[in-house]
Amino acid sequence: MEDNPRGRCPAAHPEDPTPCDGPPVVTVLDAKNAGVVGCAHHGARMLASMHGARVVPLPDAPQGTAIDVFKAADGIRPFPWLAGAPRTRDEQLSRAEVRARAAGLAEVVAELDQDQAPELAVPAGPVETSPRGVHSDAEQGAALLAVLAEAGVELGEHDRRIVEWLAGWEWSTVATVASWVRRAGQEPGR
Ligand SMILES: [Zn+2]
Repeated sequence: MEDNPRGRCPAAHPEDPTPCDGPPVVTVLDAKNAGVVGCAHHGARMLASMHGARVVPLPDAPQGTAIDVFKAADGIRPFPWLAGAPRTRDEQLSRAEVRARAAGLAEVVAELDQDQAPELAVPAGPVETSPRGVHSDAEQGAALLAVLAEAGVELGEHDRRIVEWLAGWEWSTVATVASWVRRAGQEPGR
């Protein structure tokens, strides 16, 4: 093809320096069913970089090729050749990483459901001395989620990420912030 001067498959992104891993075996279809033919390697990288894309095997491709490409794409970050790109938001991570992140939060919430953090006493009044204690990130995350829920705070995706991040700090910090939430959520005293 004219637009592939390096002789690579059409699915190879011009900025992606990697070579093909074999002959074209799949067609990657975008959300509008426009298709591009690619080798397994570039097909997977293209699939990982597009929203709503599908992969179908070429007629003469070995059995299971499309599934292999689909599975490979699961662990590939979008536009993986962009080495310096930020990789913090869901749309910048691989599908497998996004699932792992969601599962991590689910674990924290599960612990909250199991009431495993009762000993994490969040101060309900002004904090005069550093709250003491050493707890796991999951416990601290659960304590934060508990006070937020108690205060009726609706959480967005970014809120939950910050809860996760904040949960990694020491308890004296987490407990104090949690205490602010708890106290802010209380009915004003008369
Ligand atoms: Zn290729």
